[in-house]
Amino acid sequence: MFPFTDGQKRRLLELGAVPSVCGAEFAFPTQREHQFKILEKELVNESKLKLQTLREQTRRPALLILQQDIEKALCEEGFVQVSTPLILAKKLLEKMSIGDEHALSSQVFWLEGDRCLRPMLAPNLYSLSIDLLRIWEKPVRIFEIGSCFRKESQGSRHLNEFTMCNLVEWGLPEETRMTRVKELAHVVMTAAGIEEYDLKETDSEVYGPSLDVVQGDTELASGNIGPHFLDVNWGIRSTWVGLGFGLERLLMTRQKTNNIHCVGKSLSYLDGVRLKIN
Ligand code: ATP
Ligand code: MG
Repeated sequence: MFPFTDGQKRRLLELGAVPSVCGAEFAFPTQREHQFKILEKELVNESKLKLQTLREQTRRPALLILQQDIEKALCEEGFVQVSTPLILAKKLLEKMSIGDEHALSSQVFWLEGDRCLRPMLAPNLYSLSIDLLRIWEKPVRIFEIGSCFRKESQGSRHLNEFTMCNLVEWGLPEETRMTRVKELAHVVMTAAGIEEYDLKETDSEVYGPSLDVVQGDTELASGNIGPHFLDVNWGIRSTWVGLGFGLERLLMTRQKTNNIHCVGKSLSYLDGVRLKIN
């Protein structure tokens, strides 16, 4: 029997074929080539239709619409949106306990002058929170949605540049923290249009209680509650809950695609559609 070649499988997947299609086998290579051409043509036609819909109707890629939907839901929940720099000083990462020895440090894109592209939003949210907690009465609620950068070994669930939504709520009754973090996970998951997900509670000695939002074995978000041992580095003493979501993970989950690269920021895909179709 003759299965599709690796190149053919890759091409079908990048055009948006469901993975099971690639498992087909044929009695003769000529049959295989014939079937490949038919499938490729169908997928190219579907892709062109999707691009036409984007051009004439939706006008905005799903990633940006998802971002807008989450922004709206969080603002309605009383959160204030913030926008902080992409470039981060090394000393702010060190305050997150990410020194040279830390596993995440090798994933950081370093720039000259002890600065880097932010691998997470938390240091900036901590920095802003110090000031806001002096000025505003609690509860103080802020969130940011923006790019984060990590050197990853290019799997189908990791991007070097991805879009993180990180929210934090300061100053809530201690006994309500776990319930609240679950509630906030629900707010974002509802805004993202994903009904089926699981909450995985863990309690590590080092990081304390935490909560992952998952679907199957895909992590969609990680949450924590505080006071946390890192808070002393920022001089903050307060209860808090926080969650960090990956928007591309949410999108690939909702769209049931297993390729994160087609939903992320890209020059090869536009709104999930491979552009090499002509
Ligand atoms: P993973 O274990 O899946 O690599 P993580 O636990 O290192 O993720 P966190 O630091 O908890 O990631 O970041 C919060 C969320 O950001 C994750 O739950 C995930 O949705 C998303 N995320 C993290 N790294 C990436 C990446 N390289 N590409 C896309 N999304 C990511
Ligand atoms: Mg995590």
